[in-house]
Amino acid sequence: MEKMRKILLTENEMPRQWYNIIADMPNKPLPPLHPGTGKPVGPEDLAAIFPMELIKQEVSAERYIDIPEEVFDLYRTYRPSPLFRAYNLEKTLGTKSRIYYKYEGGNYSGSHKANTAIPQAYYNKQEGVRRMTTETGAGQWGSAMSFACNHFGLELLVFMVKVSFHQKPGRKLMMNTYNAKVVPSPSTMTAAGRKVLETDPDSPGSLGIAISEAIEIALQDPYTKYSLGSVLNHVSLHQTIIGQEALIQMEKANAYPDVVIGCFGGGSNFSGISFPFIRENLVNGKKTRYVAVEPASCPKLTKGKFTYDFGDQSGMTPLLPMYTLGHNFIPDKIHAGGLRYHGAGVLVSQLRKDGLVEAKSKFQRECFEGAILFARTEGILPAPESSYAIAGALDEARRADLEGVSKTILFNLSGHGHFDITAYEKYFEGNLPDHEATAEEIDLSLANSPVPTF
Ligand SMILES: *Cc1c(COP(=O)(O)O)cnc(C)c1O
Repeated sequence: MEKMRKILLTENEMPRQWYNIIADMPNKPLPPLHPGTGKPVGPEDLAAIFPMELIKQEVSAERYIDIPEEVFDLYRTYRPSPLFRAYNLEKTLGTKSRIYYKYEGGNYSGSHKANTAIPQAYYNKQEGVRRMTTETGAGQWGSAMSFACNHFGLELLVFMVKVSFHQKPGRKLMMNTYNAKVVPSPSTMTAAGRKVLETDPDSPGSLGIAISEAIEIALQDPYTKYSLGSVLNHVSLHQTIIGQEALIQMEKANAYPDVVIGCFGGGSNFSGISFPFIRENLVNGKKTRYVAVEPASCPKLTKGKFTYDFGDQSGMTPLLPMYTLGHNFIPDKIHAGGLRYHGAGVLVSQLRKDGLVEAKSKFQRECFEGAILFARTEGILPAPESSYAIAGALDEARRADLEGVSKTILFNLSGHGHFDITAYEKYFEGNLPDHEATAEEIDLSLANSPVPTF
């Protein structure tokens, strides 16, 4: 058979619904709790910051949820996304395994974030919202929201984690171009930001802090709402367009993955590529493995504790049942800013607890090595975040070769690294330190991140 390097779908073959894994999970996730009462939160508790349609999706048990026409229409400007067979990488490795990757960097935002930015902006607009607030780490989420908000006629205020604000000035300018206002976080605009700056004026910031600032502003005005780029169920739901397309593309390639790999920040791109395949394990007896790869400096899935914790630093969100390093955990300043989050999404946390998902952690230097090998063979310059998935895929291929077997490996290339080029410069200068969060640091962080008990 002719070698298929690039497996494409037509617009007509694109899935018209998102897949909700809750319908098929053997153990349903525990409910989010109200930090004041200890009771499960109801839709009305969330209504101050999210539109009702997204709240419904957050708690829905429906297996498939229709993609609205206006959202589908924007999806069609860059979807279906291509699936590639990494022939050149395979050849250079000399591996017997087959390596496939789904590429989510080929849209305006440069990452998978557009897949949820578009529906989130759309539902907010539908419900009469005028202004949105959000956080961003490396800037991919902020970029994705900036374009989507502007498209649907919403203003946007972005709190950008300070270390990334300085590492990646191009991202700020891109957001400005799409008409968004960008503030480095922690900022003096909010009580949450001022409190952090009082104790540490040089704080590099964290996603948890930026989330607190964005929620605080949203709570002050009924026409302003907040949006989150990862972690929550509805965000993972929107990302399942990735895995559903990949299922069809793998079938076209006459292949099925033995292992599916994603990098892990809050879990949305990993959920997106893996959930539709996990369904095949749960319903159709497939035996595929699922591996989430996270930074050694922010290892919630491998070293965190499964417990109720806040989703933000200052304790404004409901308590979520998740693997966490403690909401006050400030990860080391690694270049994969999108992975510097203290917790793991509720759905992946439950799946991990139930043994359906594996996790491993890696140092950034090894990941950059993998990213450079990937760039030199496949031609795409990966986002620092995505390099963790590449390193995970290389592990699988090398292990299979040592065992003398051939595996089919699928990973998600969540974004490109065109705005992250100074991180590559640091690597070439030999100036990219490895950092590991120790068990003692994590215990201390958890002890310093108290949550209400009931
Ligand atoms: C945000 C981001 C991530 C991490 O977030 P998840 O929600 O875990 O997917 C990974 N890769 C890229 C390119 C990102 O922008």
